[in-house]
Amino acid sequence: MTDERSRSIIIAGAGIAGLTAAIAFARHGFSVQIYEQAPQLEAFGAGLQLSPNATHILRELGVLPDLLPYAVRPRAVELRDAATLKTLTAIQLGEAAEQRWKAPYLVVHRADLRSALLAVADRNDRIGLTTAARITGLQQHANWVEASVNSAGSVSEVSANMLVGADGVWSAVRNMVRTAASSRFTGELAWRTTIALDESAGKVFAAIGSSDSVTAFLHPRFHLIAYPISKGAKINLVAFTKGERIADNWSGNADIKILTQAMRNTSPKLQELVNSAGVWTAWPLHSVDPNGSWTADRVALVGDAAHAMTPFAAQGAAMAIEDAALLADYVANDGKLAKSLPLWERQRKERVNKVVRRGALNHLAWHAAGPVALARNLILKLRSPEQLAADLDWLYGWRLPDSSFVNDAP
Ligand SMILES: Cc1cc2nc3c(=O)[nH]c(=O)nc-3n(C[C@H](O)[C@H](O)[C@H](O)COP(=O)(O)OP(=O)(O)OC[C@H]3O[C@@H](n4cnc5c(N)ncnc54)[C@H](O)[C@@H]3O)c2cc1C
Repeated sequence: MTDERSRSIIIAGAGIAGLTAAIAFARHGFSVQIYEQAPQLEAFGAGLQLSPNATHILRELGVLPDLLPYAVRPRAVELRDAATLKTLTAIQLGEAAEQRWKAPYLVVHRADLRSALLAVADRNDRIGLTTAARITGLQQHANWVEASVNSAGSVSEVSANMLVGADGVWSAVRNMVRTAASSRFTGELAWRTTIALDESAGKVFAAIGSSDSVTAFLHPRFHLIAYPISKGAKINLVAFTKGERIADNWSGNADIKILTQAMRNTSPKLQELVNSAGVWTAWPLHSVDPNGSWTADRVALVGDAAHAMTPFAAQGAAMAIEDAALLADYVANDGKLAKSLPLWERQRKERVNKVVRRGALNHLAWHAAGPVALARNLILKLRSPEQLAADLDWLYGWRLPDSSFVNDAP
């Protein structure tokens, strides 16, 4: 293998996972070529909460300065009863989060995060990006990989030291890894829209929620999360209900009655918010069992390709960022992929499984009914703000090993 190839990485997908991986590998001195199937990197998606475990990595990778001008630091996360609108509890964020977890808790538009990652990748000579190029095949050799790239119907072969599959929940690279899990529909739909504070829906929202915080309205058949994005000019609304499988991509269409019927018995003000908020887009939620294989010889899956999860712990993008940065660390610190990839996979699976369990617990608690809901409310009332924050230390206080990105930043 030529020395050039031994320090080169191919990445499938220019989403959060792929761009973070590209920056992290380039900071370790690798040359990186990203292939993205979309012809253009569009402003797709909606809001994202980025907890300190993710923002500390973005800071290490030099991404935060490009992101902060578009991000909001929410004051708190408030849990409210969707019927009475009463606050059940609040976890302090803002300065308190930054002091406790040593990095900011942010809410952003996904497009702003992708633009910030792209800007940093663009400034790095070691990173190249080809759009309208889909990875469709793979050949593994003793010391290198060869991937097939389909661009406008013409297929070419590219080679490198390893391939990173960052190609999302419907990953093609995952199909090239033996014993990898498949994606499955979770039976849940996410309903998303954004509103401006100076529109009529924004005024309805101002009467029932805080425009400087993350607010979760809880109910047995649905929950709705609201938080500011785009420097605070807009509020991102995302509601979750049960639903039918509507598509194997993000562009499904579902009847809004599924959402409005799930909201029966909630506060009329909340129903008014949903009815006045304009067009809602339904996203079918798919997951990938994190216990399938993520690595095979010279291939590693990161982000949703490895372990798409329901968003009830708000950690999918954060886990993608952690995966990518740690993978680059492992590969840089021990070039023998046969050793570094299994070690990385084992460490990441332990963490991701814990996060998936936390998301399932949140879902159970947020959709509790009757006596279980009363018990939940009592427990939340009895826990001090300090205890609530301490419960999250394992999640938000996670850090990359000290050795990260030390010597060879450009
Ligand atoms: C409703 C909802 C709310 C969420 N809220 C949060 C939140 O608050 N906080 C949080 O951390 N996470 C959240 N998430 C999760 C988060 O959005 C995802 O986990 C994250 O975006 C995954 O990033 P990714 O890069 O792995 O995949 P993607 O963003 O899907 O990127 C994959 C990329 O690969 C490209 N691609 C696909 N196949 C190929 C191929 N064969 N060759 C080349 N390119 C290819 C695609 O075009 C795409 O650009 C939420 C998700 C949902 C659905």
